[in-house]
Amino acid sequence: MAEIELGRFSVNDYRGLPDAPPFSVVEGELPVIVSAPHAVSQLREGRVKPSDDFTGAMALVVAELSGASAIVASRYDACDPNWDSFEACAYKQTLAGLVRQCGAVAVLDLHGVPAAASDAIEIGSADGFAVRAMPGVDEFACRFLREQLHEHLERHGKTVSLNARHAARGPNTVTHAIARQCGVAALQFEISSPFRVPIDAKGHVPPGEEIPFTSDQLPVELVARRNPDPACVEDVVRALADLAQTLGC
Ligand SMILES: [Zn+2]
Repeated sequence: MAEIELGRFSVNDYRGLPDAPPFSVVEGELPVIVSAPHAVSQLREGRVKPSDDFTGAMALVVAELSGASAIVASRYDACDPNWDSFEACAYKQTLAGLVRQCGAVAVLDLHGVPAAASDAIEIGSADGFAVRAMPGVDEFACRFLREQLHEHLERHGKTVSLNARHAARGPNTVTHAIARQCGVAALQFEISSPFRVPIDAKGHVPPGEEIPFTSDQLPVELVARRNPDPACVEDVVRALADLAQTLGC
């Protein structure tokens, strides 16, 4: 996972390889799609925002382990798939086409939040709107991750929450838009850095996740980044792959 991140996504100041397409699609057999729209930096309202680092690598590995398809942002292209309207967003339009093409029943949209976030993983279903095609699957996913990651959550003193601060309530989020446009279940996962970043990038810390780290967040981030927990991240990847298989089978 680290090699994929360092070779494809965090290169070029988190903008991806200059000759990469803006986003990449990998097709699998399982009718589930894993998405990482913030795998590289984005542009929102005229401001460049830091990437949710390791979400691109995580999506590709989850897809490989589960047999799901994946779509990942691969190069900065001055847009933000989790903010721009569906009509103006090639990423979401391509994802919608992929949903129809492979008969997907669910989309898992991966994002990152700082180590200082109150929860290890925040699941968002727009308060149930995005899972109308599969009612209750958001609560199931929350219980599933809590069980699968029980030991890590206890050690870090954090939990998995549902529809708390990051709930994908905005109509232009990937989760809300794809559920609305395609009539499938979509879930957003905001994963904090200790549960997402498996390596110490030799003291290098990205400038933030979606927004730059605040002075309160930065010290916590530095400690987390210098003390990675690769076994925890591996289990997060495995749990997401198991969740994808459970939803797709
Ligand atoms: Zn994000």
